[in-house]
Amino acid sequence: LKIEQIETFAVRIPRDHNRARGGAGSPGALHASTARYARAVHFGTVYARDFETCLVKITTTSGIVGWGEAQAPVVPEAVQEIIDLLLAPLLLNWEFDTPGEVRDLLYNAMRVRGHFGGFYIDALSAVDIALWDIAGKQAARPVYDLVGTEGKTSLPLYISGLTGTTETEQIASFERYIADGVKAIKVFMAEEPAQLISLLRSLRKLSSTTVCMVDALWRLNLEDAMEFARMVADFDAFWLEAPLVSEDVHGHQKLAAASPVRIAIGESYRTRYEIAPFFETHAMHVLQPDIGRCGITEGMHLSTMAASAGLRIAPHISIGMGPQIAAALHCAANWKHLDYVECNPQIYAIAGQFQSVVFKMSASTITVPDLPGLGIALHEEELSNFSRVRRASLSNFINV
Ligand SMILES: [Mg+2]
Repeated sequence: LKIEQIETFAVRIPRDHNRARGGAGSPGALHASTARYARAVHFGTVYARDFETCLVKITTTSGIVGWGEAQAPVVPEAVQEIIDLLLAPLLLNWEFDTPGEVRDLLYNAMRVRGHFGGFYIDALSAVDIALWDIAGKQAARPVYDLVGTEGKTSLPLYISGLTGTTETEQIASFERYIADGVKAIKVFMAEEPAQLISLLRSLRKLSSTTVCMVDALWRLNLEDAMEFARMVADFDAFWLEAPLVSEDVHGHQKLAAASPVRIAIGESYRTRYEIAPFFETHAMHVLQPDIGRCGITEGMHLSTMAASAGLRIAPHISIGMGPQIAAALHCAANWKHLDYVECNPQIYAIAGQFQSVVFKMSASTITVPDLPGLGIALHEEELSNFSRVRRASLSNFINV
């Protein structure tokens, strides 16, 4: 396989802010201002007003087209520039056999400068996903069939976030979901712990059987997290996600050892090297890789590590379009120890607007696409209307 052309799309799509509140990528109120980015008042993380992501389209000399995507909810142009100015010149006209071999080349190209995380690995991951799409199309097989042997095609899903800003609105959202047949729902601690506990108490009165996950959005210190874990365990929380700042290995280790509820982390880490200290110290129970941040190649490696450590696994799927969601599904199809796939209905709906084949799903399951490659097709022209598009040129790199 030889790469002929690389195009990137830094995407910005307006979204309905009232409906987005409470879900992935917008856990707090997005202010009514027209600013592009807002810092969530309670914990300092920046969120985008619009739906932002970065897609890459790679075309081979034999005419196969592969789509990839990075998890790039803030400044997708950064990922785009890395691909356009640095990765594309390395890749164009370069022949490869496997996506893994390309990932190694790109990872090595910048590692001594400290680029083993962040935007750089996001960019690599977008390319990796696109190359798996190409590899699948070349072999006329779905990606899940190339990266593993498990090949489950129907996966359990959970709804990520209730809509509404008040407890009353969130309870109404919960009632609608369970009436529709939803089996598992995650709630976010966007404000104070006491508010989340009050919401959980109300939800449990409505349903004792719905699986309820809690995402604390990295906002607790160790002492408060210990107490909070005990409280959410009283309401039979399925897991407690992101309780502490993501760098705190020993805090997670102490918490995981003492918590009556399982600790779920993983969306912040892109490689085996970032996550290794957490494996070594038994600092989690559920690993949540984000395939838009680690790519399919490294994501499958992380899942193997998780399986050997006896962990459960549940892919993190946040702001993303078809390539990113599909990539997570193809990986998850091979995870024997899968708990649930994350689904924010508002985000899947936006992704679906730009796909000619939408994801098949029920209230409690999603079907892994069965066509060659990622098994999705994008409306490129429509996508271009919401994107800054770049086409990489070949001229500025040689192997010496
Ligand atoms: Mg999370």
